[in-house]
Amino acid sequence: MAEHESRVLRATLKGGQARIFLCDTTRMAEEARNIHNASNTCTVAMGRMISATAMLGINLKDANEKMTAIINGKGPGGSLCAVASSEGRVKVTIDHPEVEMPLNSRGHFDIGGLLGKDGQLTVIRSYGFGEPYVGQVNLVSGEVAEDFAMYYLESEQTPSLCALGTSVREHVESSGGILIQAMPGCSEEVLSALEVRAELFSSIARLLQDMSLEEILEACFRGLDPEILEIQPLALECDCSQERIEEVILSMGADEIRDIMQKEHHCQVVCHFCRKAYDFNEQELEALIQRASLKER
Ligand SMILES: [Zn+2]
Repeated sequence: MAEHESRVLRATLKGGQARIFLCDTTRMAEEARNIHNASNTCTVAMGRMISATAMLGINLKDANEKMTAIINGKGPGGSLCAVASSEGRVKVTIDHPEVEMPLNSRGHFDIGGLLGKDGQLTVIRSYGFGEPYVGQVNLVSGEVAEDFAMYYLESEQTPSLCALGTSVREHVESSGGILIQAMPGCSEEVLSALEVRAELFSSIARLLQDMSLEEILEACFRGLDPEILEIQPLALECDCSQERIEEVILSMGADEIRDIMQKEHHCQVVCHFCRKAYDFNEQELEALIQRASLKER
């Protein structure tokens, strides 16, 4: 039984002809399930999204950089969003975590049905200053892995194989993913060796139940000289704060806030990612408005 420490690793094959990203997000998917009180189908969708975003996030260089991924396919689950920041912190949310779906015709969780495919996968890399980089592709299936593979192909011109898996019964039993990218100059020999292995990864969740990331890498890429470059611990962690929530409230404008004060006498803002509630009474709201107008002068 694997230990299920949440981690992501970056490796190369054959001296850099291909890149491998591999992650175990079991604990994070279980935490997300609890935070959002999510149905099994929504837990699987969030687990896949956490894994895909964590594998994007290991490329972040600076402490202020962030990777945000949003799938907006007009399905009954609404939109699914995850954000990875440096040092492996990931947060995730879905609009309607309670929505449960019947299994699909192959007996699997119907993630494509939950998320829909009438929309886009958007990936935003923000640097903490200046304009963010935004990449967008039309959804292929809403199953998440195929959509990310298309994103890498269209937006980064990198042929990629992406497999994401989250296994859930009463709890999340395993969750993780693998991304394999052929680099320019990758030999035919390596390409065909990777193709042969593609089938293996359709059951990545099963592999993660019994094996560590290192064991999977060793077992699945034997003969291709796998070399680990970096291992990063991952955690499901939100970065919301009193200060940020105050900014959100102030962005409504003084008139709107006074309107709420008059009608409701207080204001509660719930963070979409960690479901923490922030409460403000009338005096606190008035103080906020005063402080903001002082700053403007
Ligand atoms: Zn939060």
